Amino acid sequence: MAYQCPRCGQNVERASSPGAAVAGGLVGALIYGAFGSFRCCQCGPIAKEEFPPEVQSKMTAGSAGMIAVAVVIFVIACFILVAINSMP
Ligand SMILES: [Zn+2]
Repeated sequence: MAYQCPRCGQNVERASSPGAAVAGGLVGALIYGAFGSFRCCQCGPIAKEEFPPEVQSKMTAGSAGMIAVAVVIFVIACFILVAINSMP
């Protein structure tokens, strides 16, 4: 999912954190991505408030989707753990 930089018009990406990915696995990386900042390769980090309102609402929807995916993965992981622990 790419957004346009409000300053230069280039594509910006969600800033990713290898540290968060290591600490929380896929779920941590997704949650970090959902709340993380955006980064332009030319201008550096961009505050969410700098984007036009319609882009901000898209971002909010995208973040909600990422959190939903993270929750689903977490629930599946819990089921797998319970299944493993209940084995004789
Ligand atoms: Zn830019």
